Amino acid sequence: MSKKTAIITGITGQDGGYLAKLLLEKKYRVIGCHRRGATEIFSNLQNQGIAEDIELVEFDLLEDSNIARVIKKFRPDEFYNLAAQSFVGTSFEQPLYTANADGIGVTRILESIREYSPDTRFYQASTSEMYGMVQEIPQKETTPFYPRSPYAAAKLYAHWITVNYRESYNLHASSGILFNHESPFRGREFVTRKTTSHLARMAAGKTEKPLRLGNLNAKRDWGFAGDYVEAMWLMLQQPQGDTYVVATGETRTVREFVEHSAVHAGYAIEWRGKDENEVGIDTKTGKTIVEVSADFYRPAEVDLLIGSPAKAEEKLGWKRKIGFSELCEIMMKSDLERAHNGLL
Ligand code: NDP
Ligand code: GDP
Repeated sequence: MSKKTAIITGITGQDGGYLAKLLLEKKYRVIGCHRRGATEIFSNLQNQGIAEDIELVEFDLLEDSNIARVIKKFRPDEFYNLAAQSFVGTSFEQPLYTANADGIGVTRILESIREYSPDTRFYQASTSEMYGMVQEIPQKETTPFYPRSPYAAAKLYAHWITVNYRESYNLHASSGILFNHESPFRGREFVTRKTTSHLARMAAGKTEKPLRLGNLNAKRDWGFAGDYVEAMWLMLQQPQGDTYVVATGETRTVREFVEHSAVHAGYAIEWRGKDENEVGIDTKTGKTIVEVSADFYRPAEVDLLIGSPAKAEEKLGWKRKIGFSELCEIMMKSDLERAHNGLL
């Protein structure tokens, strides 16, 4: 049997690296789409040890002609759209760009698939942020959406256009509504990696400054990225496209993430004060480890996310392997190693 070809957009991102590794292990030919930049940063692919095994092509979600050419050239068996302006905080500052890339960009891809490669199976990286002000607990495929940021609104459009192309043109198009998933390759603007990278630098004596965070009480359903890319692949192996929630079914506060990670850096945190005056103190040394700062509050917050993975477990046979405590440990230990080796 000839090798299957997969295109992955957002190859330089966290999920791009994990998914490419998985598909290479499954003997796919992997085409990785990246944006041209003044500096080329493929550190995730290098750290995964797969930089040499991927064929790279330039690709931008904003450029119709470029997208059409890439799809026409490769006519891939599978197309995973992971590219996006993926940070909620930035979407409040760059709402139009986010709508264009994360929303309309998906229609650009689907139009090209419809026109030039209708047998291509398509995966759209949808998000639990679409549930926003949650209408049901836990959130599942049938839960109504209530987006609370320009990011979530753009992703919601992308989700529905994926469903629409599936129903209108009979494309094999799937939307994976993935809850937060993290790893040592997560961007440092996200609260998990911001926490572990800062605490690691502190523990290695590289900074004395406390970690400044916003809302410590927000609750997220955090899983491990390596587990979640398996669900993406499984979706495209089904006879038909569909929509699936991928989650752990467990929710934790930002505060808990900080406490659990800090332990592996040698800190035991006790919280004092309230709201913007709250601080996290290391009980062993009395040192202030965490400070709350309103700079990191959001204009509209998503207070609670918890997903039900029941459909993914039943229909895809997917099961997550890594739980919350192990995730904290993996991320903290990886950043400690980086900090001690001068890489943070
Ligand atoms: P990252 O932010 O790590 O990666 C995003 C990727 O998109 C990067 O490779 C980035 O390239 C690329 N990109 C951004 N803008 C463009 C553009 N205009 N044209 C082409 N490429 C672009 O995200 P993750 O890997 O964490 O997430 C993958 C996808 O899953 C995203 O769509 C995200 O929104 C979604 N998602 C993620 C969740 C999570 O918890 N991680 C949860 C649910 C959904 P560059 O390096 O040049 O910036
Ligand atoms: P998101 O769920 O995609 O927005 O992932 P983030 O990791 O960016 O944020 C998760 C939650 O952590 C949100 O409710 C944020 O408000 C909260 N949070 C608290 N402090 C911070 C912070 O300093 N940075 C970020 N990124 N989020 C924070």
